[in-house]
Amino acid sequence: MADAKIRLFVEHPLAPGNSVPVDRDQANYLFNVMRLGVGAHILLFNSADGEFLAEVADAGKRRGLLLVKEQTKPLQMPPDLWLLFAPIKKARTDFIVEKAAEMGAARIMPVMTQYTNSDRIRRDKLQAHAMEAAEQCGGTYVPEVADIAKLGAVLDTWPEDRQLMFCDEARVGPAETLAHSKSGKWAVLIGPEGGFSDAERDRLHKLPQTTPISLGPRVLRADTAAVAALTVWQAALGDWT
Ligand code: SAH
Repeated sequence: MADAKIRLFVEHPLAPGNSVPVDRDQANYLFNVMRLGVGAHILLFNSADGEFLAEVADAGKRRGLLLVKEQTKPLQMPPDLWLLFAPIKKARTDFIVEKAAEMGAARIMPVMTQYTNSDRIRRDKLQAHAMEAAEQCGGTYVPEVADIAKLGAVLDTWPEDRQLMFCDEARVGPAETLAHSKSGKWAVLIGPEGGFSDAERDRLHKLPQTTPISLGPRVLRADTAAVAALTVWQAALGDWT
């Protein structure tokens, strides 16, 4: 819709005729910051029903009501791809989550490794970054940000049917591509600034689902590596193909 520029993620079923209550933060954003009034149009999505046009039916200071009109986009699920990464400095961790949502990761999993620099994350804040990225990039799905977990524990219960693209800085050199035969469920693993320990590397190599890969001849920072790895995967096996 030409006049509907704002996209908002809502946790509410969307179908023509539904009304969607607006919470305090959203009311502040829509009616104070963006100065929308009754009759204005916005776009809504909820990770389940696709995208819908909605009209402001009530615009209060602390709450409001949106009336759902026609569907404007079907639900487009990302491929079944997880991003596992070791949290780094806050701004760079925020960047990784934002880019992962834009790049079409379905689930974002912070993992603690031996050389992880920071083991404290604000899951709720990271989830909000993922939501804002989806709002901005036209996606209809917000990837879930999981609680931080130890890499060892994640690998102990690794699903048999999920491949793991292990981005290993020890392989720095000619870039490697993924075998197209291994389609289906995948995860990408990016290490911290300190890289992986030998013990972690051994553990990863023992997992039959692991495909170790090089991301080229230079050592990338973890945030760059995350975007590069998601690009490589999307181009070979994901929804870019
Ligand atoms: N301190 C390490 C580098 C870590 S880079 C060293 O000097 O060797 C952070 C993470 O980005 C790595 O753990 C890896 O997952 C990924 N990475 C960066 N460059 C890479 C490359 N060329 N190939 C594969 N993975 C890479």
